Amino acid sequence: MEWETVIGLEIHAQLVADSKIFSGASTVFGAEPNTQACAVDLGLPGVLPVINEKAVEMAVLFGIATNAQIARHSVFARKNYFYPDLPKGYQISQYEAPIVAHGTLNIEVDDETKTINITRAHLEEDAGKSLHEEFPGSTAIDLNRAGTPLLEIVSEPEMRSADEAVSYMRELHRLVKYLGICDGNMQDGSFRCDANVSVRPKGSEELGTRTETKNLNSFRLVHQAIEYEVERQIEIIESGGSVVQETRLFDATKGETRSMRSKEDAHDYRYFPDPDLLPIKVTEEYINVLKIKVPELPKEKLVRFVRQYGLAHDDAKILIQDPETATFFETAVEVDGADPKQACNWLIGELFGAMNKANRTLADVPISPD
Ligand code: ADP
Ligand code: MG
Repeated sequence: MEWETVIGLEIHAQLVADSKIFSGASTVFGAEPNTQACAVDLGLPGVLPVINEKAVEMAVLFGIATNAQIARHSVFARKNYFYPDLPKGYQISQYEAPIVAHGTLNIEVDDETKTINITRAHLEEDAGKSLHEEFPGSTAIDLNRAGTPLLEIVSEPEMRSADEAVSYMRELHRLVKYLGICDGNMQDGSFRCDANVSVRPKGSEELGTRTETKNLNSFRLVHQAIEYEVERQIEIIESGGSVVQETRLFDATKGETRSMRSKEDAHDYRYFPDPDLLPIKVTEEYINVLKIKVPELPKEKLVRFVRQYGLAHDDAKILIQDPETATFFETAVEVDGADPKQACNWLIGELFGAMNKANRTLADVPISPD
């Protein structure tokens, strides 16, 4: 029997904001544990959350850039669950009325363009962090991250291989960085992915039972976890068993996923509209103002680089891979008498080659563009 892989991704992008989504506490990364969570983030009795307008603006920018529908009226909901890193006992998220829905993103696989539909993108707060490794035999809690603004971007189950999933994730990663709404720093967890995977007999229309592998914070891990899950599921089905719908964790050292908990259904979370927060109302004028703020996006930049600087398409593609590289090139070329093609060749050949060898990024290269 031939099997088809079905993948849908949920991506959490941490939004670039100085303060939390519902409080004025700082979001600076790497502070001493438990120094950046205020009464609102902890949900102490008597406090009231207030939405950070910056977060709304960033969600709307994302909606514009993915040709999505931006809800004129969206609502925050309480997602109730008990976990030590969630002191309130609920996470403020969006459920029935997310701020962004029905977007699209084009990805490239084997030189062909495929459109992936984005089901929704909603605003929510992050939880705190449970620390296990540093405290053998116990769990410690750092609540600094509690209340950090997130945009959760949910795709339709439309990817058909680990390569497609990674391509989608890369495209999304680049987009949020270009938009300036997320720093994309994956080691710090600013951009992380839950991978929903199922398999079905080729030609079947029905979806198979999925598992969700949580918190994958690199492209490599996403690829590995998906490939592992696909094999595991096929093996189970071929030996007469059935896949259990559950949440799994990927163990990078062992290269395998393991069960974490049985999958919750929406009703387990007892969602209800958060009575402490007003609905978000977005007007036509507000959207129009933000439309002007959308920067030049990767596809447009690619076309312009080829036209304006006479670069080969494949070279231009490397230069637009992230906004830092594109800016580095354009700053270099602004210098009087600079030859764009020569600059491009030198960057791609010499500099990027040396950077790869030394395992460095543009940010820690001691050369200024000019
Ligand atoms: P949940 O909160 O249960 O994770 P969401 O609606 O937030 O539900 O996300 C579900 C994700 O799983 C979406 O990305 C969706 O495309 C994907 N998905 C749903 N069913 C399947 C399936 N059978 N196989 C693979 N992915 C699926
Ligand atoms: Mg989800």
